[in-house]
Parts: sequence; C-alpha cells; structure tokens
Amino acid sequence: MKIIDKLESIKQQELTATENLEQMYNVIEEKNDDINAFVELDYERAQKVAKNIDEKIKNNEKTGKLAGLVIGIKCNINVEDLIVSAASPTLKEYVGSYNATVINKILEEDGVIVGLTNMDEFAAGSSTETSMYGVTNNPNAPGHIPGGSSGGSAAAIAADMCDITLGSDTGGSIRNPASHCGVMGFKPTYGMVSRQGLLDLAMSLDQIGPFAKDTTGIALMLDVITGYDPHDPTTFNKEPGEFLKDTQNRSLDGTTVGIVKEFKEVTDEKINKQVDKSIDQLSDLGAEIKELTFDDINLGLPTYYLINYVEFFSATRKYDGRKYGERIEEVCGPEVGRRIQIGSYISQKEFSGKYYKKALQARSLIRNDFNKLLNDVDVIAGPTVPKLPHKIGEKLETMDMYAYDVLTVLANITGIPASSMNAGLVNDIPVGLQLQAKPEEDHKILSTMSALENI
Ligand code: GLN
Repeated sequence: MKIIDKLESIKQQELTATENLEQMYNVIEEKNDDINAFVELDYERAQKVAKNIDEKIKNNEKTGKLAGLVIGIKCNINVEDLIVSAASPTLKEYVGSYNATVINKILEEDGVIVGLTNMDEFAAGSSTETSMYGVTNNPNAPGHIPGGSSGGSAAAIAADMCDITLGSDTGGSIRNPASHCGVMGFKPTYGMVSRQGLLDLAMSLDQIGPFAKDTTGIALMLDVITGYDPHDPTTFNKEPGEFLKDTQNRSLDGTTVGIVKEFKEVTDEKINKQVDKSIDQLSDLGAEIKELTFDDINLGLPTYYLINYVEFFSATRKYDGRKYGERIEEVCGPEVGRRIQIGSYISQKEFSGKYYKKALQARSLIRNDFNKLLNDVDVIAGPTVPKLPHKIGEKLETMDMYAYDVLTVLANITGIPASSMNAGLVNDIPVGLQLQAKPEEDHKILSTMSALENI
C-alpha cells in the first residue's frame, strides 16, 4: 500500500493511528536486535500522539498532513527529551532541550515520531560503522553495511519499521544508504529545508531530507518540512510549491535526461548495466536522452573533504567538555578525530591559502561547470554509488571509504537537489539510480521518480 493510501485509510478509520503505530512497533521489537536501525524509542509518547489523532478523526476535527504516519528521526536532529547524541560518546548524555524546526513541523502535522535512528558518528562516514551504538545491518542485503551516514533511517524504511524517516545529507548521507538499502531518499536543494536544530557536520553542505518506500511518502514529508524558517537565514523566503502533485506524473514527454560519461567511468560495470535499464525506462516513458561530459569529476572528493574538515573542525569547538559532557577529542572515534586534526591544521592562517581557499575556488568551478551541464537538460540520471556495499566487519582504507561518495558529493558542493531510488539488484544487493536537477527544481526530480516508479 502506498503511503498516501495508508494516510487515507487512517482518515477513513479503516486503520487507526494507534493500530498503525502498534504494527510498526511490533516490527521494530521483532527485528531491531538484528537490524539496529533504532537507537532510542519513545513508544509511550508516540502512543499518546496516535491516540490523540484517533480522537480528532472520530470527532471529525481537522488533522494534519501526516496524520497517523509513523516517523523515525536521525539522531543528529534535536527532539525534545530524547538523547540526541549524533552517535558520538561526546554527546551520549545530551538530552534534546528543544525541537528542531523540522520536528515542530512534523508534530504540527500529526506525524507520530517513534524514535531516533542510527548513524555514523557526527554523520562523518558512509557505512554507519562508526556509531557508538554499533553498526546497522542492511535489511535488503543482510551482512552488508546499509551505507551511511543515515544508515538507520534507510534501514528502518527497508525493514518496514516506519512510514517515513528523516536523514541528513552532507556528501551523500541520504542517497548513499537509500541506494544500498533499496529505498527512496531525497536531498532537497540547499536552503529548501531548515537546518535549525540539526547538529552540523559541514554547515554549507548539510541538508535534511526524507526516506520512504514510494514517492508519496517523500512528497508528504517534503510538503511538511520545506519552506522559510526565520531561525535559519539560509532558507529561501518563497513558497516551495506542492510536492504531492508531482507524484501524479506518469509521462516524461518533453523531458530531457542527461547521462554523464565520467559518472559511468568511475562505476562498477554491473552497476552501470543495471542503471542503464532504468535509463531505458526513462526513454520508454518519453524522455529524450542526452549524453554529457563533465571534466571536474576528479575535483569532487578533494574539494568536498577539505571543506568538510574545515567546517567540521569549527563546528566541534563547542564540544569542549564544559556544556556537553566529555571533550570531543578525548572520546571520539578515529574518523572524527582525523577530521578534527586535519581540519585544525588546514584552518591555520598560514595554510588557508594553500588548502581552504583553493577548495573554495574549486567549489565555484565545479558549481559553474555543473550548472552549465544542467542548462541543457531537465535532470541528470546515473548511478548513486559507484560500488556495492562491503560486508560488515571488512576493513577499508580511508580513501576506499571516501570513494563511495564520488558521485554524491557534487550535489552538496553545488547545492542542487538530488535523489536516489532503486534500480534493481546486482548480486542480490540493491543499487540506486541518482537523479539531479538545477537548484530549486526539486519538483522535476520527484515527478521523474514518480513516472518511473509507476511503470
Ligand atoms: N560520506 C561522506 C562523509 O563522510 C558524507 C557524509 C554525509 O553526507 N553526512 O563526509
């Protein structure tokens, strides 16, 4: 059943919000020991919220856009009274003292938040292996990593523990786990969704976005969380437009889809083959396919990681042990430690010209060149992740871990919207199709996803 149909059946009292919550909670109880998608649950509070929604429906009162849907939240987004640790021992005792803007919006629209999901420590990773709560298992490829950093949010959807979850995406952390777990993930244009209450990884790259099994779940959540927020000056001060409408699209007549030669060159052949099938389907739906070339592909990762290190280092200065418990350097894992150390080094005045300023120059170059590509097409389609997820426990070199991100970081460097949806299986493991579009053309991505999903 699509999420929109479930919403309707809750409204029609064929399924109560309480029953929906109970069903999903039972799945969580049954599977979470194995999957480890949720790191904290608040069933009692969720039950109260669900009961209240059922009352409202019975009394014919108006209910919100998410009425009765079960929602999971990545544990780097502030939710009052839950432990918002970003999976780091630094914050293991930090209890959210307020709700992030996106959380208030979800609650106002009667979403039922059931708990917080697992992630890489401070969102710095692509595998969810660096979490202090232990790794998350991939429900659709057991024994393999779920991707990251929002691995718990993707796995919760794949395992039917939730209707919709939220993640954050700095260099791919929504799209990468969506790809590995075989679900949909959407990173909106930078500035579409308020980041107020999100713990920063790198603030000029971070964006919050949804996971769901179908586009109606993605659209319902986007309709709730997008829009101007006076508490986040980087949000756009204009109407984002209705996303649910995009999910009615069934044809791609008049749409031009770009495919980029260099994206395929860095990707595993079997993944390319599978993604090509989706691209053939786009063409069957009426899209014109156009081949493009992008010369800056090798600049993406170094540019992204330099900016990430510098911004993350600066963001972590508040975790000095005075307010939040332990000093970050003393208790963090090796990846977070590396970023702080290198970030601190390259942030020094005498080096900034050599590294950070160069990274900013590269960022403008990439942005200009990528926007030029997008001038000729409506969306760019290609693989989300260039290789299959590794087995849990397998040790990867740092550079091999970073290599997962080569196709996803570009959207964060440029601020454009990007999504991932399932393109089938390779060796029984899901692989994703990534769609990207011009800034603020999130609607084009969603309507393309919708046409493809309904084939
Ligand atoms: N894997 C990337 C990193 O480690 C992206 C993380 C993210 O998007 N939060 O920085």
